[in-house]
Amino acid sequence: MLRLPEFNYVKPKSLQEAARLMADLGNDAMIVAGGTDLYPKMKRGQFTPKHLISLKTLSEMKGIRVDDKDGMWIGAGETLTAVAQHPQVNELFPALAQAAGSVSSPQLRNVGTIGGNIFVDTRCNYYDQTFFWRHAAGFCMKKDGQICLVAPKSKVCLAAFSSDTAPVFCSLDATAHLIGRDGGRAVPFTQLYGRDGINYLAKRNDELLRAITIPRSVFGRRSVYLKLCRRGSFDFPVLGVAATLKLNADGMCDTATVVLTAVSSVPVYVDVDSILRGQKITAELIESVAETAAAVSHPVDNTDMDYWYRKRMTKVYVKRALAQLSGVTLKGPQTRK
Ligand SMILES: Cc1cc2nc3c(=O)[nH]c(=O)nc-3n(C[C@H](O)[C@H](O)[C@H](O)COP(=O)(O)OP(=O)(O)OC[C@H]3O[C@@H](n4cnc5c(N)ncnc54)[C@H](O)[C@@H]3O)c2cc1C
Repeated sequence: MLRLPEFNYVKPKSLQEAARLMADLGNDAMIVAGGTDLYPKMKRGQFTPKHLISLKTLSEMKGIRVDDKDGMWIGAGETLTAVAQHPQVNELFPALAQAAGSVSSPQLRNVGTIGGNIFVDTRCNYYDQTFFWRHAAGFCMKKDGQICLVAPKSKVCLAAFSSDTAPVFCSLDATAHLIGRDGGRAVPFTQLYGRDGINYLAKRNDELLRAITIPRSVFGRRSVYLKLCRRGSFDFPVLGVAATLKLNADGMCDTATVVLTAVSSVPVYVDVDSILRGQKITAELIESVAETAAAVSHPVDNTDMDYWYRKRMTKVYVKRALAQLSGVTLKGPQTRK
């Protein structure tokens, strides 16, 4: 049985205190919310913090509400179950409810938070292993080693960004509200993620996520999240497609977004607007978006399922998502669920 190593567990009374502690303790400290990703990784020696700063009891990070100023405000400390079951989330952004409800299992969703999900560590078959396995195989550059074991010539880590909910927030022009020792800042999701499997977050280690907001301007868009994984539950995505669509009064496309997860070290934005905006959606245009998505989908051989299959399925899932949102009927096997 794998055991947790010793660590110091700190329960700050406010977000400001948590931010100050993180700044003071530096890289020896990590934030823990639900711990569903962090604790197993500590058992496997992937993370070795001396101090864990717990956000679990902070009421400043709780709540889901809709108002004129923020649009939808979601506290980072809300559980995935709370997000998936919230009536206004289901009504306004079904894709978010679908994504949150597709994470792992009910037990994990009851504990895991939405904040932890959008910052969840990147994944790789050569990294998500016990210390003994990684020691025997030779460590990789993400932890304790020098090279990428998936592609030894790669200069950067290729671990896959695998959050289910992050691509949905990206597709809805959401903003992350971060708190640091010196105050807060709002970061659009377009700028929240980094550049490789190690530096996959464009935020400082001491910055905490307080909340996510979805602007009023995207209310009224249709949205869907489709996830490819081996089993019906308990599995990370090996491909996820978040799509939104707004039609104008004439039935033409006003706005469309498609964002992919699990096919790169960061969420991947597909240039769909330039194909669909102002157009009447047809099966041919959907095919064209799907081709574009497959071209920017770059899975590598480091998760479940063959990478060439995941690339091919990008096309299929994007077609299904846009057909579902637009009501256009597709011909051929890709229409099967
Ligand atoms: C068996 C299993 C299956 C899983 N399946 C899926 C899946 O299908 N899809 C999926 O997306 N995930 C999956 N996960 C990963 C994880 O459980 C979820 O992503 C969950 O939402 C993480 O939330 P948490 O609150 O438990 O985060 P934690 O484990 O507490 O933290 C995760 C990371 O986020 C940081 N963090 C957490 N909250 C904040 C905050 N407010 N501010 C700054 N940093 C923060 C932590 O420091 C840590 O680096 C799975 C995990 C397991 C063990």
